[in-house]
Amino acid sequence: MPTFALVRGQDRALGVLRAALANRRLHHALLFTGPGGVGKRTTALALASALNCETSPGVGCGTCATCTRIADGIHPDVITLQREGAAQIVPIETVRAQVIAAVGLPPHEARERVFLIDEATALQPAAANSLLKTLEEPPARTRFVLMTVAPDQLLPTIRSRCQRVAFSALGAETRKAMTGGEPDPVVAAAEALVAAVDRGVHAGAAIGVVQGAGGESKLDVAAVVELAAIELHGRARAAVEDGDLPAARLAADRASILVAAHMAIAVHHGHGGVSLEALAHRLQRGGL
Ligand SMILES: [Zn+2]
Repeated sequence: MPTFALVRGQDRALGVLRAALANRRLHHALLFTGPGGVGKRTTALALASALNCETSPGVGCGTCATCTRIADGIHPDVITLQREGAAQIVPIETVRAQVIAAVGLPPHEARERVFLIDEATALQPAAANSLLKTLEEPPARTRFVLMTVAPDQLLPTIRSRCQRVAFSALGAETRKAMTGGEPDPVVAAAEALVAAVDRGVHAGAAIGVVQGAGGESKLDVAAVVELAAIELHGRARAAVEDGDLPAARLAADRASILVAAHMAIAVHHGHGGVSLEALAHRLQRGGL
């Protein structure tokens, strides 16, 4: 069950939210930003629990009837706006039916109604515009948590109405800790990608390595590339400290190509996922 205690490696973001809850100064519209797979949605559900928990108000127990229904996605006042169709957008009809129509009425049973939008860049422009007034003048007992991997792609009018809470990229150690020492497919794939790059493997083959390391599971490619970039950045920094400038330059160049690839993935990820082919294309253009 999502509680703040389950979120790893996001002390800064959790600190902001816990302090706001304790002071009763939580902004009515939050924008969680950061890479995929780092805990934004878990934190959003934990926040909805904290706001509504029966046994630990302001904290969230994760086990009471309210917390359980929030975790299962069946609480009538904790609503995720779903993406639809091949383009994976949130259409204006969804915002009208689920948000605009509801906010004129009090919550069914919650102390605080919470609307969740998993990838805010997926809001159709008309849908985003129809939210502006509600975000600016929130109805009582109503909160919004918007999440995105690409905040720069959002309408400035949406951004300006939300308090931004930044989530960090997770290092390999944190990811390993999250899986209790079990091999994490993202870590394994990132290590394979770095190793392939080290061997001078070209993009297409390197992607094959990543796919192989991921096995049957559907890999979060953006997270893989990001983790590989973090690894190479760390290596560049270590080489600088060792005074090995050629090695530092090589690692930094490779890292920057991965960062560019990651940014491209992050932007497209908001609109319905990313393909390994797109990543291979991007890496090839970068000369990797
Ligand atoms: Zn609870």
